Amino acid sequence: MVRRCSVVGCGGSVGLHSFPLDLEIRQNSQLPPGAVVCNQHFTRDSLELTASVCLVTQGP
Ligand SMILES: [Zn+2]
Repeated sequence: MVRRCSVVGCGGSVGLHSFPLDLEIRQNSQLPPGAVVCNQHFTRDSLELTASVCLVTQGP
């Protein structure tokens, strides 16, 4: 089963993000189990890097 974005009218299936696992947040927002949101609802400013990323490129 393909997971889809939970935002009404979206239904995207690429770049899905889970909601926080914090039980208090989940109960207050009444999210259904397995709810996700796709990349389209985030801007670059929304992202916070939590790990260093090293990109390796191949030479000519
Ligand atoms: Zn979406």
